[in-house]
Amino acid sequence: MELQIEPLNLPGVEAKRPLIIAGPCSAETEEQVMTTARQLANNGIKIFRAGVWKPRTKPGGFEGHGEKALPWLKQVKEETGMLIATEVATPVHVELALKYGIDILWVGARTSANPFAVQELADALRGIDVPVLVKNPVNPDLELWIGALERINGAGIKRLAAIHRGFSSYDKKIYRNLPMWQIPIELHRRIPSMPVICDPSHIGGRRDLIASLCQQSMDLGMDGLIIESHCDPNNAWSDASQQVTPDILEYILNLLVIRDKPVTTENITALRRQIDEIDNGLIDLLAKRMRISREIGQYKKEHSMTIVQTSRYSEILDKRSAQGSLCGIDTHCTRQIFEAIHEESVRQQIEILNK
Ligand code: PEP
Ligand code: MN
Repeated sequence: MELQIEPLNLPGVEAKRPLIIAGPCSAETEEQVMTTARQLANNGIKIFRAGVWKPRTKPGGFEGHGEKALPWLKQVKEETGMLIATEVATPVHVELALKYGIDILWVGARTSANPFAVQELADALRGIDVPVLVKNPVNPDLELWIGALERINGAGIKRLAAIHRGFSSYDKKIYRNLPMWQIPIELHRRIPSMPVICDPSHIGGRRDLIASLCQQSMDLGMDGLIIESHCDPNNAWSDASQQVTPDILEYILNLLVIRDKPVTTENITALRRQIDEIDNGLIDLLAKRMRISREIGQYKKEHSMTIVQTSRYSEILDKRSAQGSLCGIDTHCTRQIFEAIHEESVRQQIEILNK
C-alpha cells in the first residue's frame, strides 16, 4: 500500500530538525505535571508528553489515572502554550483524549504489535485530523510496524510519524530495548516521506545512555526525539531510572551536534567507493568460506558425522567476538555476524548431506 503522508505541521512548532517532545513517562499528580511542564516550557520545549493510560507488564503497578489526568494536560496547554501528547490504546482513549484537546496521539509499542487493536484505533480515528505517532511493535518486525502505520494512514490520518523505541529481547545487556538501527533505517528507505522520531529513554532504560542515543539517532538522520523528563526522576511512579530533569534534558540537547541531512560531498562519494570495494571483498571471502564449508560437509557425510559440532561452534563465536572486540567492534555485533555465517554454512552442509 502506498502511504499518503503530509508534514506534521504543528502549530507553534518550527518545522526544523530535531522535533523535540518531552515530558514524564506518566502523569502522576497535578503538581508533578505542572511543575515538570513549567520547567520544560521555560527551557523552550514546545511539545509535552505524559502517559495517562500506562500499559504495565504486570498488574499492581501504577496504571495511570486515565480521564482524571486529562484536565492536567489541558492545563499545561492553557498555561504554557505547549502542545500536549498522550498514548492511546483503545477507541475510548481516543474519544477522551480528543475531548480534552490532546494535540498529538501516540500508539504504544504493545498496541502496535496487535493488528486488531490498531485497526480499532484506526476506525476510531477515521475522519479526524490529528497527528498520530506510531511506536515500533515490541518485537523486531518491520512489516508489523509498517502494517500499523498503513492501518492508521488508511483511516485518513496523513500527519503520521513513526517512533523508534527499540525492541524487546530476552537477553538484556546494555539496553532495555535493543536499538536494532537497521530496522528504522529500512523503514526510512521504504517510506522516505515518513518522519522517524527516536525514543532514547525506552531504548536505553538508563538516563546515562540518553545523550549518546540522541546523538546516534541524529547522526542517522532521524527527524526528532521523544524523551522522558520528570521534575523528580528518582521518585517517578514509572520508568524512574530512565527519566531526566528538564535541566539535564536541556544540557543533553545543547550538546547535540545536528549535521545536515543530505550529505553529498565528493569526499563521501570517494569513501563510499571504498566501502563498495570492501563489501565486494567480503562477499568474495564469504563465498570462499562457504566452499570450504561444503568440503567439510562432504567429509562429514563420508564419515557419518553430525553437522553441528557445538564445541567448535562455541569456539568460533567466542574467538571471533574477542578478536572483533580488539578491533573496536562490539562483541554482540561480531557474534551476530558469525551466527548468521554459521547458519548459512549449516544450510549448505545439509544440502550436501541430502544429495
Ligand atoms: C511510554 O512512552 O511511556 C511507553 C509506555 O512507551 P512504549 O510503548 O514504547 O513502551
Ligand atoms: Mn515510559
